[in-house]
Amino acid sequence: MAENPVNLLLEALPPILETSEMFALMKRLREARNVVITCHANPDGDALGSVLGWQEYLRSLGKRTQIVLPTPYPDFLRWLPGADHAYIFDTGNDHRQWRASPQKIHDAFAAADLICCLDFNEPSRVGGMEKMLREAKADKILIDHHEHPDTAFFVQLVSRPEASSTCELVCRLICQLGAYEQMSRSAAEALYCGMMTDTGAFSYASSAPHIYLLISLLLAKGIDKDAIYRNVYHAYSADRLKLVGHLLCNKLEFHLDNHASIYSLTAEEMKQFHFKRGDAEGIVNLPLQVKGLRLSIALREDTAQPLVRVSMRSVGDLDCTQIAKRFFNGGGHKNASGGSLPLPMETALQTARDAIEAFKDEILGASV
Ligand code: 5GP
Ligand code: MN
Repeated sequence: MAENPVNLLLEALPPILETSEMFALMKRLREARNVVITCHANPDGDALGSVLGWQEYLRSLGKRTQIVLPTPYPDFLRWLPGADHAYIFDTGNDHRQWRASPQKIHDAFAAADLICCLDFNEPSRVGGMEKMLREAKADKILIDHHEHPDTAFFVQLVSRPEASSTCELVCRLICQLGAYEQMSRSAAEALYCGMMTDTGAFSYASSAPHIYLLISLLLAKGIDKDAIYRNVYHAYSADRLKLVGHLLCNKLEFHLDNHASIYSLTAEEMKQFHFKRGDAEGIVNLPLQVKGLRLSIALREDTAQPLVRVSMRSVGDLDCTQIAKRFFNGGGHKNASGGSLPLPMETALQTARDAIEAFKDEILGASV
């Protein structure tokens, strides 16, 4: 009889944990009863997808779980099943009905005997929730793909900077721990969503063959990947499309000799285009459509002014994390990083120009 193709896929998948790590993780999970699962502030598809996928796995082990997000997630992720049950620590000036009672969040952290930290590498990445996370008595474990994790903060780390996404890691963990069969379609949707969004719909950081084994395994759960694509990428308002037009036409500044570009988005423009959380997503990738462009820098005024958020994308070997660290108090991944500047926009713009000038040799010398 022919072998079940799903088993062949599972067998072909490279294990993510060494045996000793796997037993250590299983022991921690076995001993935990109440688990808090959290991710970085301003959760993206990978952060939210991975906490949802991991939550379902922990529930299948009989754990009581609570997802606590440092801040709300964007509207284009609202369709993710289960997202609306997450607690949200700081809803800011977003007055919608989020489940955010401070007492409940405090109680969830106090009751936890394990805290799973997904898609971030150090406690400061949870923003205003850092103090609560640091003061929580429970052991913290990390599942993440950012460089330079804070090894002292976590009792166990599944840190794989070479991975496409935290969702990839969660999916591989579930498979290695023998729980693929129990995975629901909803969890498969969440995990696919994060793998898709962290790779620009599989256009970067996604050449490892096992990624496509995982996609096949998720498709076998009945997910509709085309619908997920539309839910995420075709879910904007008309205002957002006009904002993109405005930024590309009126705000994009090319530094073609240095293969780089910068644009800025001010609080005033955000008001003009009825900016909503998530509207800035993906715009920073667009300048890279210009042939030869290697670095795109986006600056956005934060509500807490003067603060400018910086987003960068680079191509090939050009490591924009170095630029993020040296100029923008940030970090990230080789081709996608960010940070922030406590400066007015005009000064931040000048800093971005200085950064391009300072890194011109790296930009020109990069192999792309
Ligand atoms: P995005 O441009 O999508 O906002 O961020 C891209 C990547 O940059 C994120 O996945 C994250 O790794 C990194 N990043 C963004 N902002 C910051 C920041 O303020 N600090 C650090 N360390 N990394 C950041
Ligand atoms: Mn991620």
